[in-house]
Amino acid sequence: MDKTSKHESLRALPQVEEVLNDSGVQDLVSSLPRSIVVDYVRLAIERTRQAILAGQALSPNVKMIAAETSRLATMLQTPSLKKVINASGVIIHTNLGRSVLAPEAVEAVTQVASGYSTLEYDTENMSRGSRHDHCESLLCALTKAEAAIAVNNNAAAVMMVLSEFAAGHEAIVSRGELVEIGGSFRVPDIMKQSNATMIEVGTTNKTHLSDYQDLLSADTAMFLKVHPSNYRMIGFTESVEIKELRKLADEENARRKDTGTPEILVYEDQGSGALIRLACFGEYHEPTVSDSLEQGADLISFSGDKLLGGPQAGIIVGKKEYIDRLKKNPLARALRLDKMTLAALLATLQLYLDEKEAEKKIPTLRMLSASAEQVEQEAAQMKQKLDDAISSHDATFTLSREIARAGGGALPMCDIDSTVVCVEFHKGSAQKCEEYFIRRRSTPIIARIKQDRMLFDVRTVLGVEEIDEIVAALAEYFSGIASAESAG
Ligand SMILES: *Cc1c(COP(=O)(O)O)cnc(C)c1O
Repeated sequence: MDKTSKHESLRALPQVEEVLNDSGVQDLVSSLPRSIVVDYVRLAIERTRQAILAGQALSPNVKMIAAETSRLATMLQTPSLKKVINASGVIIHTNLGRSVLAPEAVEAVTQVASGYSTLEYDTENMSRGSRHDHCESLLCALTKAEAAIAVNNNAAAVMMVLSEFAAGHEAIVSRGELVEIGGSFRVPDIMKQSNATMIEVGTTNKTHLSDYQDLLSADTAMFLKVHPSNYRMIGFTESVEIKELRKLADEENARRKDTGTPEILVYEDQGSGALIRLACFGEYHEPTVSDSLEQGADLISFSGDKLLGGPQAGIIVGKKEYIDRLKKNPLARALRLDKMTLAALLATLQLYLDEKEAEKKIPTLRMLSASAEQVEQEAAQMKQKLDDAISSHDATFTLSREIARAGGGALPMCDIDSTVVCVEFHKGSAQKCEEYFIRRRSTPIIARIKQDRMLFDVRTVLGVEEIDEIVAALAEYFSGIASAESAG
């Protein structure tokens, strides 16, 4: 764009008052505070000015700025956090909110959120209570731990344990376990933040007990084990089990007796936190929380919304004397659970009292344990509905064997056999349909794309209503193409 036309475009930018007099903008003022509308008019003018300065050929006018103002205001009125349909086959999908709550947990949240509750009130003693008490007995009953506490998430739990027991001291961790978990949780960073000195031992692929022994000193406060979660090394690898670290800690603690030096703690950041062993684990050695306790860990922390299938939370279980110290740590107050999460966690844990019920009622467990045949049947029903609703000139629908994933950094090597509905596009394309599904629909639908086909894994789709919604959305996509063709 030459200089004069750029100058003319800038001069054509309307005044704020002119835009405010536009009838569309007047309508906005009736539903939004005037000051917000004024701010958006200014923003719309400024963005257009920047676009012109950047060389875009624009002839700005009142209507154009008014339309941009409306667009910005509409975004403010439609929440960006909303429901999606997950047909990706990734069960604990971190970007999509990890675990879906059981209806019992949702009901419990509604109860405490819509009225007052006994959050910090002890009805037995008719006096002030502690919110930490609510889930402790359930957690202890389910894991066989002596004591437990739940905080905001597992990253918070790790931070709290390190701050309480290793700040100003050394924590020994294997190089093979210095992992980064999705969403920028990095073990070395959390260590630094907690003022613990990280002592790395071993090599990336192999760490031996003697590596821990060699760097053990009077300043060692902890052996930290980190579950590698989303990451696996195969082949020439070796790591040290909790029970060996327990033995080493016990020997050292016996030497420290009466010296005044605090005991060495064996702490495992277990991440995924399975309370029960599911058939889908197969040969895969995913430890349960009780397994690690049995091996002798003093403390174990894990997430509430991974394999447990509850709300976002970080749960710490283990020896009572250590949990008691954590309860007194100021971080316990800063990182405490809110009542809605606590209600959801309690209701989820209660379902575990009957393991068979838990597998049926907790969506994450149900999706993980649904059989390949069951999923195939549901996929076949969806294919039938698509065949009935959509012309074979638009697309061909087939069933295909695929692998579903646990996700959420859990069970990365666990192949879960699934059947997907595969859409081959004769009109439009998988990429365009995906864009329509995600950007245009008020309830986005998340599928997978493979070789120009769209794959829908019904394992993660919640019931017939969602399947019907996907069918309707695909039908809408193709009828949109048909009307664009007849119009154009
Ligand atoms: C997932 C995970 C975390 C982080 O847990 P959040 O609940 O997401 O905060 C930490 N450590 C391990 C080993 C994990 O798998």
